[in-house]
Amino acid sequence: MRSVLVLGAGGFIGSHLVRRLKTEGFWVRGVDLKFPDFSATEADDFVIGDLRDGAVVDRVIDRRFDEIYQLAADMGGAGYVFSGEHDAEIMHNSASINLNVVDRAQKRNIRQVFYSSSACMYPAYNQADPDNPNCAESSAYPAAPDSEYGWEKLFSERLYLAYNRNHGMTNRVARYHNIFGPEGTWQGGKEKAPAAVCRKVAMAAHDGEIEIWGDGSQTRSFLYIDECLEGTLRLTRSGFEGPVNVGSDEMVSINQLVDLVADIAGKRLHKKHVPGPIGVRGRNSDNRLIERELGWRPSQSLRVGLEATYGWIEAQVRSNSAPPVSP
Ligand code: NAD
Repeated sequence: MRSVLVLGAGGFIGSHLVRRLKTEGFWVRGVDLKFPDFSATEADDFVIGDLRDGAVVDRVIDRRFDEIYQLAADMGGAGYVFSGEHDAEIMHNSASINLNVVDRAQKRNIRQVFYSSSACMYPAYNQADPDNPNCAESSAYPAAPDSEYGWEKLFSERLYLAYNRNHGMTNRVARYHNIFGPEGTWQGGKEKAPAAVCRKVAMAAHDGEIEIWGDGSQTRSFLYIDECLEGTLRLTRSGFEGPVNVGSDEMVSINQLVDLVADIAGKRLHKKHVPGPIGVRGRNSDNRLIERELGWRPSQSLRVGLEATYGWIEAQVRSNSAPPVSP
């Protein structure tokens, strides 16, 4: 039976990936500091372990897996990444994981690891204009990410590609752009814009007010989880190493995102713009390279993914605010 290792299998993308790989008939081992937050894992074997610890990595990479997906990282949305308070941990934790994983894989004669980098590694100077951000893969240098999270991603993607050059590996590097969907973090400080907006809209009264960080004219694109998994698997099984964007090129402003979610919810809402961490002014996935190399691009509209995500978050909000059942 073909076997797969998913590192970060307790996280948002990792838990969805495990589910997808099970439908394809793989034997799956998942590893994470925690089990998935919102449903039971479907992995055949799930190891609770800290991948910063080389002994743990030795223990979980104990055979030649057919595929390895390295998604474990210390990460969160703008409120976590841009506050500056977590810079040292983010860099130390994620770099330690990647240094361990690629080295142990190579020493076990495993040729390929899929690595999830991020659009946060692109230079801030190319993302100052909300209408015309440049996130072509070739625009990465001179490097100037706007966060330490982005610098670590850049370091680690270079690390995986250096192992390709020096150790004959065929690691794959994707640069994810804002992935969203059901069963993603939606509260607590690590949630990202689509989930935060869905939560705020779900909690707002009709004709109420919701707070938006910044003036809301900053632009982004958002990729639905199923499309992210499709791009991930296609890249892993292709002859192309990347780095390549895996993202949507349907760019919207945060104000437009709010309007879209409010429309899905059937609510009229007033936006109150407040100071907050917002990151670069504009970001959009450039999908020319993935289309050329893999003959694939995401096709689903933002609205379709938001409808599914809003429905799930609204149900979470409702069950969280339900009065306790009396004994
Ligand atoms: P997530 O935070 O839900 O998942 C990451 C998982 O890694 C978490 O479950 C966490 O517990 C685990 N982890 C962290 N430190 C660990 C350690 N020391 N040992 C073992 N496990 C550890 O994030 P996600 O959204 O599922 O993202 C998955 C990957 O994709 C990450 O590498 C992230 O940087 C990257 N990425 C995500 C997005 C996005 O929009 N979600 C965008 C760009 C890149």
